[in-house]
Amino acid sequence: MSTNSNARSPYIARITHQDEVFGKVLIKNELDLTQEKHRFPDKYCDRPFEYLEITPAGECVLCCPAWLPNVIGNVNEGSILDIWNGERANIIRQTILDGSYSYCSNTLCPAIVNDTLPDIDKIPQPYLKKYPKVIVLGIDESCNLLCPSCRSTRISYASGEKYNSKKTIFDRVIAEFFSAPHNEEITIILNSAGDIFGSKITRDFMFDFDPTPWPNFKLNIMTHGVLFTKKYWDRIHLWHNKINTFNISFDAATEETYDKIRVGGDWTTLLENCRLIYTNIDQYKFLSMDFVVQDLNYKEIPAFVELINREFPLAKVMFKVVVDWGSWDNSTFKQRAVWREDHPNNLEYKQIVETVRNKIKAGEYKNVSLGNLGN
Ligand code: SF4
Ligand code: SF4
Repeated sequence: MSTNSNARSPYIARITHQDEVFGKVLIKNELDLTQEKHRFPDKYCDRPFEYLEITPAGECVLCCPAWLPNVIGNVNEGSILDIWNGERANIIRQTILDGSYSYCSNTLCPAIVNDTLPDIDKIPQPYLKKYPKVIVLGIDESCNLLCPSCRSTRISYASGEKYNSKKTIFDRVIAEFFSAPHNEEITIILNSAGDIFGSKITRDFMFDFDPTPWPNFKLNIMTHGVLFTKKYWDRIHLWHNKINTFNISFDAATEETYDKIRVGGDWTTLLENCRLIYTNIDQYKFLSMDFVVQDLNYKEIPAFVELINREFPLAKVMFKVVVDWGSWDNSTFKQRAVWREDHPNNLEYKQIVETVRNKIKAGEYKNVSLGNLGN
């Protein structure tokens, strides 16, 4: 889960770059501006051809905004499908087809960092679908937690101007894609900006919207898990066979560390709720327990793999590095960003990652993705 307008937003950043076509573009890692761009002429990435993310401000991007921040349009200015098929979107897609990947982050995109982009000649001819296959709704930052990496004040929009404007954007997106029954394959990801049940907008949607008329409408859930109780699980029964994937954010392997990082959460409740979700795992394609690495938790990387492998053996374990969402001041971010070469504990961090990588290779750790933790 990611953004908020008071603090954590892909649009509050310290480093900006002026682009001829896209104007001011906000960069999450300054190394992207200084390092020579990699080209991948024989590779392919399907993201910009299938994926649309809508941010709290209604801005549309074609990948995670930390990795590819260029905005292709704003839903307040017109039809989402026009934006999806528009010139700016196609300029980005062209950089995939010509192999330049010139808008992609060399340092934060996991596919680039880990060299896992597929060969272009091994994939079917790229084509643009009428609708995005995956739509990430990160419109409402409301969440009952107060993680310092994400925000400095609690955010909850339940009435008033901000609530109304976010609800208008949310309803427009739903109306544009789900006003009449169809068979298109569309997966919605809720809620990348806040929490699916911490937001009144997405909570009400889950309780009140009946997805039955869209047989190929699927749901990917991003949650901190603490509100995912049996009561709420039962209440969203219409969605049970629609849920495709779960991403549950832990960011710790112990209660002590969890309490520092996921302020307002509850470790015991999280584990209880995860056990409930896990009993239904046969229904999902993917259940992922996620861990964003920073200086407060990097030593728990191995313990986290062991915890999930032991408690939830069929679940995936996903890591990624903390990025600057604007909620910390510059020096705090540098202190947290243990993955940066200039961090005093970077060597120890790298050794831990290397140990985990070796255990994955040896088959001792199962179902682990090291994401963009680097080589
Ligand atoms: S940043 Fe990475 S995932 Fe996103 S479009 Fe570029 S290569 Fe694909
Ligand atoms: S759980 Fe934490 S990181 Fe996620 S939206 Fe809430 S405050 Fe932000």
